[in-house]
Amino acid sequence: MEWNFRNIDKEAELNLKHFFWKCTACGTCRSGYTFGPPPTFRKICPQGQKFGFEGFFASKGKAALARWMTSDPILKNEFEWTPEYLKTLYTCTGCAGCQNQCQIDFKPHIIDTIEAMRAKAVQDGVGPLKDHNVLVQSMRNNDNPYTGPRGMRAKWMKGLDVKDINKEDSSVLYFAGCTPAYNAPIRQLAVKTVSVFNKIGVDFGTLGKKEVCCGSTVLRLGAREEFKRVAEKNLEIFKNLHDERGVDTIVTSCAGCYRCILEDYEIADDFKDYMDGITIKHTADFIYDLYKEGKFEPKNEIDMKVTYHDPCHLGRHVKDWKVDWDGSQQWKGSYLDVEDKGTFEQPRELIKAIPGIKYEEMRRNRNNSYCCGSGGGVKTAFPDWAAENAALRVEEAEQTGAEKIITCCPFCHANLNDGAKVRNSQLRTIDLVELLDEAL
Ligand code: SF4
Ligand code: SF4
Repeated sequence: MEWNFRNIDKEAELNLKHFFWKCTACGTCRSGYTFGPPPTFRKICPQGQKFGFEGFFASKGKAALARWMTSDPILKNEFEWTPEYLKTLYTCTGCAGCQNQCQIDFKPHIIDTIEAMRAKAVQDGVGPLKDHNVLVQSMRNNDNPYTGPRGMRAKWMKGLDVKDINKEDSSVLYFAGCTPAYNAPIRQLAVKTVSVFNKIGVDFGTLGKKEVCCGSTVLRLGAREEFKRVAEKNLEIFKNLHDERGVDTIVTSCAGCYRCILEDYEIADDFKDYMDGITIKHTADFIYDLYKEGKFEPKNEIDMKVTYHDPCHLGRHVKDWKVDWDGSQQWKGSYLDVEDKGTFEQPRELIKAIPGIKYEEMRRNRNNSYCCGSGGGVKTAFPDWAAENAALRVEEAEQTGAEKIITCCPFCHANLNDGAKVRNSQLRTIDLVELLDEAL
């Protein structure tokens, strides 16, 4: 299977070089802009907030580093990796906050550029960081990034009445993902998803021990070979399930798995053949669609004030970029427009549909949400900083007067609860399905 990764130093007519040279260092990506009244600018880049917006940090810094790495011809071959450059690359959470602000031709390619630079670090034998190597090795040995044995993957479903899709037909595959399987405090996410599905009457099955990591974590680190191995395994599993078990929908409760299967698997040249007739949905979308079809109504009153944290991979990462590739509308490679495909309103509508719930929005939300700080391998290599950053988000949530933060990503979920501990805050984060389970 061929994977059409984008690179920073590949000689192609339109490679990433054509875009990172267009960064004007304007600094617009420093803040999230919200039209008023009154218009507001609020910090959007966790990396810039912690390490400073200048130098090689934040997205304009990464563009400058990419230029330095690939400069030609005057400085060619003078670039050498240093611990500082690697820190620059790996303290970025890949949250795409900067991408949402930038308005020039670099915009659609910012995350691709950061990930291509990481892939180059891996290719040059210097990346990822030491702590990340445990994760990559675990992926090789166990098909998950948590160093957990394969046999433990299905432990979360012990005692639950869940159909084994390897043996029985079902149109829906619930792809739980590695975090609920191997991170005990997050196990409830998968357990409550099953409970909600059963209450709504969804006929679904799981792969049990045969589930394999989607590959998101290693891809974000630049370990493309390891990603390809698990992604190809998954594509084969999905196709077989479609042909032999009638699966037409894959539902996942992990924002990382969702973004990865939806947006990253797409660059495989055989993607359409493997995924023909299969739709990938996040549980929030899947449950929302059933709600809109009138399949259920949250009935139980919950007297509580809540707020919602937008996971980056479920929201602003999911977009259709419109680029003038052939120059027929403006100029070759010009950024024309973007279509949001992110899941923003569905969880909010589901929360508000619960009787008794009071909802208050955080100041930074939707496309301008503030990342929890755990993505892009930051939680693995810089756990203290990841929690410190999450504490900033918890502080923002506290300002709403909420008694719980609701989210739809196991990574955000775990990190926000670590952030609450840093602040000695009583404000806890739970998943949307946990709230819905109580309401059904
Ligand atoms: S990445 Fe975009 S918004 Fe940020 S400095 Fe460069 S051109 Fe400006
Ligand atoms: S992806 Fe997020 S953390 Fe990385 S530079 Fe952009 S805004 Fe900052």
